[in-house]
Amino acid sequence: MYKIMTPGPTQVSERVRIARSKECTNPDLDEDFVEFYKETCEKISCLLHTKNETLILGGEGILGLEAACASLTEPSDRVLVLDNGIFGKGFADFVSLYGGEPVLYTVDDRNTIDVGALENYLAKQHDFKYATVVHGDTPSGMKNDISRICPLLKKYGILTVVDAVSTMFAEPVDVDAYQIDVLCGGSQKAISAPPGLTLVTVSPAAWAAMEQRSTRIASFYANLYVFRDYYEKKWFPYTMPISDINGLRAAIEEIEAEPEMEKRHADIAEATREAVRRAGLKLYQQSGFSNTVTVFEVPKETTDREILDRMRREYNIMLAGSFDTLAGKVIRIGHMGNNATVENVAETLHALDAVLRELSVPLSCSVEEVFRSKTIIQRSK
Ligand SMILES: *Cc1c(COP(=O)(O)O)cnc(C)c1O
Repeated sequence: MYKIMTPGPTQVSERVRIARSKECTNPDLDEDFVEFYKETCEKISCLLHTKNETLILGGEGILGLEAACASLTEPSDRVLVLDNGIFGKGFADFVSLYGGEPVLYTVDDRNTIDVGALENYLAKQHDFKYATVVHGDTPSGMKNDISRICPLLKKYGILTVVDAVSTMFAEPVDVDAYQIDVLCGGSQKAISAPPGLTLVTVSPAAWAAMEQRSTRIASFYANLYVFRDYYEKKWFPYTMPISDINGLRAAIEEIEAEPEMEKRHADIAEATREAVRRAGLKLYQQSGFSNTVTVFEVPKETTDREILDRMRREYNIMLAGSFDTLAGKVIRIGHMGNNATVENVAETLHALDAVLRELSVPLSCSVEEVFRSKTIIQRSK
């Protein structure tokens, strides 16, 4: 087993693993399970500072993104796709798959979305049913300021769909204050449960948009509306993956028990970025750093494969490269969820120091040492 330090899936605690192995009831027929499901959903809504309803869908993070688009898009609807990263752009595919017309707002993928520039754009055109934005675009480490972007979109009556799959509970997400209509999360990132579940929080305005459709939602599995009355009817549209949900519940309880979780992520991320930078490595991002992942460019002396293989072979640590337009260009250290501890990151950077030196990459100092000293200063504050 490798120590996984990837930006999802992340390390799963023993408590969550044990919860997943509990004996199962029949989740279709046992009303206690319906209560347990609803209670788990309510805990998630509460952690997200909203009364909006949360649903847990049986499927990986991508299912939530697709279900949001499937449920809201009607043929020829115009949808604004905010694109400054790979997942950002990816929303356009879901929109067009369901017959909508994606309008891409494409900006530099090394910088966070400039809210002022977006405001100017929207002043000129704002005829969109909804807009999609990624909170933390994990392949590049991008973070967008959804606390300002979503209220701006709502000012023009545009519904907001946010991909917070990697950032949920690692970064502040206040659904009501930010005016998020559909928020998507995934079990395998900062939540630190195994992959398999997606969480979707839906506002009354988003439910109304589904109700007011003149065409049917062109999906069953990726259809949020089929869950509309599950509680009243005590009936799920399909059999719920009960063991996955038992694990998720345990993970959510761990999150409830750690009110400082966002600060832990911020401290670890800041120390990691500072260490990487001071050693002379180049962060991919220029602005908008997600606190869930540190992304640096592959030094010219070597390749991503060499670094990743040696980290695995010699130190038993799994890091990630990236994909799509970033394939081969960057290395990603995932410090989200249970990965984000001083011990985990220090061990990782200790190995990274050694691997980069073996590969003749000149470092101006030890990445691990800078990281450790920075976290000591943080703790003494
Ligand atoms: C992980 C992730 C998803 C889900 O994608 P998978 O590649 O299927 O895990 C969606 N959006 C973001 C921003 C993610 O980080």
